[in-house]
Amino acid sequence: MANKEDAEPVTGRPRSLRVNSLFSEDELIEDYYDAPPANGGSGWSDHVPSPRPPAPASSGSSPGTLGDRMDGTAAAPLSPTIKAGWLDKNPPQGSYIYQKRWVKLDADHLRYFDTEKDAYSKRFIPVSSISRIASVGDQKFEVVTNNRNFVFRAESDADRNEWIRTLQQIAEERKSKALERTSTSLTTNGAADPADKSGFLELRGFKHKLFVAVAGDKVFLYKNAEDYRLGIGITYIEMNVGNVKEVDRRGFDLTTPYRIFSFSADSDQEKEEWVEAMQQSIAEALSNSEVAERIWAVESNRFCADCGSPKPDWASINLCVVICKRCAGEHRGLGPGITKVRSLKMDRKVWTEELIELFHQIGNAVANQFWAANVPPSEAITPASGSQERRRFLIAKYREGKYRRYHPLFGNQEELDRALCAAVTTSDLAETQALLFCGAAVTCATGDPQCPTPLALAEKSGQRLQMEFLLHNKTSETPRLEVGGSEEKPYSVPLPSVTHNGFLYKTPSMAKPVGERKGQEEFSRRWCTLQDGVLSYYENDRNAVPNGEIKVEEIVCLVNNPPHAHGIESTFEVYIESERLYLFGLESPDSAREWLKSIAKSFVHPRAEELLALDFERIGRLHYKGGLNLERAKEGWFALAGSTLHVCFEDSERQEPLQLRKLQELSIQGDNEVLVLVERRRTLYIQGERKLDFLGWVHAIQKAAGGSGHTLAEQQLTESDVPLLVDRCIDYITQCGLTSEGIYRKSGQNSKTTSLLEMLRRDARSVRLKEGEHQVDDVANTLKRFFRDLGDGLFTGRWGQDWLRATALEDEEAKIGEYRRLLGTLPTVNRATLKALINHLFRVQRFSGENQMNTHNLAIVFGPTLFQTDGKDYKAGRVVEDLISHYVKIFNVNDQEMKKQQDEIMAIMKMREAASSGTQQAGDFICTVYLEEKKTEAEQHVKIPATMTAEELTFEILDRRKIVTKEKDYWSCFEVNEREEAERPLHYSEKVLPILHCLGTESYLVVKKQMSMENMLIYLASRVGDCKHGMMKFREERNLLGLGLSTGFHDRYFILNHTCLRLYKEVRSLKQRPPPLENSHKPEKEWPVRNLKVYLGIKKKLRPPTCWGFTVFYENEKHEKQQWYLCCDTQADLREWFATFLHVQNGGALWPSETSKVRASRSPQDSRLGNISLIPLRGNESEMRNSVAAFATDPLTLLRNV
Ligand SMILES: [Zn+2]
Repeated sequence: MANKEDAEPVTGRPRSLRVNSLFSEDELIEDYYDAPPANGGSGWSDHVPSPRPPAPASSGSSPGTLGDRMDGTAAAPLSPTIKAGWLDKNPPQGSYIYQKRWVKLDADHLRYFDTEKDAYSKRFIPVSSISRIASVGDQKFEVVTNNRNFVFRAESDADRNEWIRTLQQIAEERKSKALERTSTSLTTNGAADPADKSGFLELRGFKHKLFVAVAGDKVFLYKNAEDYRLGIGITYIEMNVGNVKEVDRRGFDLTTPYRIFSFSADSDQEKEEWVEAMQQSIAEALSNSEVAERIWAVESNRFCADCGSPKPDWASINLCVVICKRCAGEHRGLGPGITKVRSLKMDRKVWTEELIELFHQIGNAVANQFWAANVPPSEAITPASGSQERRRFLIAKYREGKYRRYHPLFGNQEELDRALCAAVTTSDLAETQALLFCGAAVTCATGDPQCPTPLALAEKSGQRLQMEFLLHNKTSETPRLEVGGSEEKPYSVPLPSVTHNGFLYKTPSMAKPVGERKGQEEFSRRWCTLQDGVLSYYENDRNAVPNGEIKVEEIVCLVNNPPHAHGIESTFEVYIESERLYLFGLESPDSAREWLKSIAKSFVHPRAEELLALDFERIGRLHYKGGLNLERAKEGWFALAGSTLHVCFEDSERQEPLQLRKLQELSIQGDNEVLVLVERRRTLYIQGERKLDFLGWVHAIQKAAGGSGHTLAEQQLTESDVPLLVDRCIDYITQCGLTSEGIYRKSGQNSKTTSLLEMLRRDARSVRLKEGEHQVDDVANTLKRFFRDLGDGLFTGRWGQDWLRATALEDEEAKIGEYRRLLGTLPTVNRATLKALINHLFRVQRFSGENQMNTHNLAIVFGPTLFQTDGKDYKAGRVVEDLISHYVKIFNVNDQEMKKQQDEIMAIMKMREAASSGTQQAGDFICTVYLEEKKTEAEQHVKIPATMTAEELTFEILDRRKIVTKEKDYWSCFEVNEREEAERPLHYSEKVLPILHCLGTESYLVVKKQMSMENMLIYLASRVGDCKHGMMKFREERNLLGLGLSTGFHDRYFILNHTCLRLYKEVRSLKQRPPPLENSHKPEKEWPVRNLKVYLGIKKKLRPPTCWGFTVFYENEKHEKQQWYLCCDTQADLREWFATFLHVQNGGALWPSETSKVRASRSPQDSRLGNISLIPLRGNESEMRNSVAAFATDPLTLLRNV
């Protein structure tokens, strides 16, 4: 996955320049007993010029001066300087000349430099190793450490005394701090922090190897191992500005803005380890440990809750445990329904005050009292446990709840729920934890209409932490010990044992995407074996001990790179669970394919083995959500081949192909967290559990879903295989340009055509052509340009000449026959496109009276365009003319299709006429209305007079289809907004015509039964008062300068009365008083009810927390439009809110008291009709059935609270 943006930022410097930055060993090492420097050259000469001229020594010597800051560079030093200034350093052994040094003191180190501009010191002395500072006469002072003394000379006694005073103070502070935490401190003897990695490395320019230690966010350089032990080093590199790049087999560069350090390790295995350690160090430097420090303030949080490793910097935010990195990797494998893993250092956004406090209150101590109450010592894990062992333990601990302390009410659902409702009003978080994870339902009904959920109860009681805990566990699954079936435990199925071996080229593993092309020299040849579920690589085929290995069960994704993506012909990438990737290569594509197949076979679950037969470029497992149940993420197996994404869903037997070029929508939600794919019949959410492989999937899917080239088949397509680009243009011309004079002959503006075509080619899915924004002629020209430039042409290079030859046939019938035969030889997409285009031109010529473009004129324009000729070959025009003239015959168009088109055009023309004349009386609108469902068979074209009401329209449709209505059949007309995935039942007295005027292109009218009307009427009749209040989840969508801005769903308190809808943020203060609450507090927002349009349903893309939501549209006096999304916890609640809206908006009349128009029943009822439910608008049959079932099994809950 090559991604240019990931290219490393500072490594672009040519290697030849590096020579200038070389420094010799002699320059670097300087001490009073070391060999004297060979020359006076500046050791760590920086090649980044400082914009600040050297300050005079005196000005730099006052405490707190930051005169040495590298203002011209990217990052500031991590610890601030306390005192800095020029001092003379005691001459090294064998020399009598004092050396002028820039000396700097911060809280941790005393360092000295050649000049004040240098970033890297010649020597550093940890403050913690200083035992004494003494005055030694002649303006000199001595810094005494355990083993060595350093003597400095100041310019004056005053200056000297100032240095001594400051140094003593800092050293004292350090000592007292060290005493405070003797129990945990490992570093009191002056040695550096325990290193993540340490050892000898060659550094270019030095004769002897240096001892290097990577510790935390710094890399320390020492002259030798003894110095490392003593803690006195040469310099350290702050890794917040570092960047590591491999150079060759053993060499790698650590680049900073100030200097390039060219290291060389003993072996490439060693090099891999160093590179990895330094990359980790950079990650740590860039992270923020403030949260971690606060979480660790509680003793039990300082060790992994699962294995006991110290300083765990990951957490599960729903389980409230702090865990180590290795356990975090295994937690992720359990899925977010069990545990939601976040980093203490990197995921800064999630760590709210409440969450941190929750980790103080629950944290590892309280969580383990519950989760780990009964762990047999034989099953416990330690910091040294392997990943398989960890996974087994964590599945048992959290997914199965095997070791938990059972709540006494376990198994009694009602009691558990009741106890939960009680617990959340107290501060007893341990009780809530025990109840929740022993089966209490987090969204159970409380029986309190004011606070219908435990969350609302907690809020009412002011229990912030309970709320926080409930929120993070809203979608958590209850542990189940007796999980049966292989689907629940993907790893209990033994994977097929695949054996394969041979030489592969390999680069060191990486923690980020392969940012750039890897040259051949970056690969090392390795003997690799795939055996017993382990992929191992060896130095050579005679070695018995592998250099490293990958367990196949940890593989999450396998990527087959395009040929020559790197310096080796065939390469592939292996991604593993713990966010690392391995790049392998082979010179022979055939052998590479064999490896790919073998590795894929070894890790892909047997139920997804169908995918193995595909010529995939990417295969792996991902979590997804789909269908009606969005609560639980499931694991699916995905394979991308060409522009098709093949998916083996968790619950289906066979793989299903998703045609990515035919997607209606493709977008990323959140911070690269969820990829949303909208197909005509369903929506799929793919979740980013792990960043590394997920981002790869996102890029690959986006690429595959876009137009990839200049031929027809490479474009984004509609459902009927017509390029989306063509469809968009034709649709626009049909809507706005049929009567435009000289359409397709007049040329538009060249620059606009070019940019529009480019936009459409890139991603037609996201382009919406709008009248006013786009000129008809520009769009027409774009369509022509597309065909003219089309790779292989519409008629294809192979058959083009045959089409032209056919024009010579004199017998008309024979000619038509030949065209039909040729049509049959075209590829599907070409055939569909040709038909769509000729159909369009056929329509255009019908308006030749106005647009002056008859068939002949259109043929003159389109002939050369479609055949891509210079226009001199008259036969090209002839073909097009024939195709238009014999459109019906050649394309086999039946009467019904023809009639439908006529009607559509009539309707469009009438609409435009009326719109331009500004009078509705100009003619009756013809409008397409559907019965029950939007499908061709259910279409009715109805004349809509200005006076027609929704009720009349409904009866008109029912009459036409001879449908008998029964009592309590609440047939209504709905306005469906497909784009918003929402619908609104029109009030029976509402006039239809004005609605048609504002109907967007993605909206339509449908007549169907209003399934919830009866319940709404019962509710309204039985309630007290005419206002409603309560909690709902609220999401706002502001539209600022065309940019959608939204904030997710939040709980808000609403009051709906006879005039307005009010929203309150501060519920607690509000709830101190019982209702009615009107006018007692200032609402956060307030809208007049009559101006609101309320639609049932919320588009799935917004991920509404429940399926019982509605969308509210509001237009103010300035015609600014806004919309809001509201979500209820139950269906009954939704119905009550909606009924109240209808009631308020229509003065109480929801349904005519007696049918205002008596209809004679003329024919027997069509029993197939009348059962389509409201939601979902999209969805397959089983989704439909489910939601019908949800409606049908309404246990009249709404009557319960009346
Ligand atoms: Zn651990």
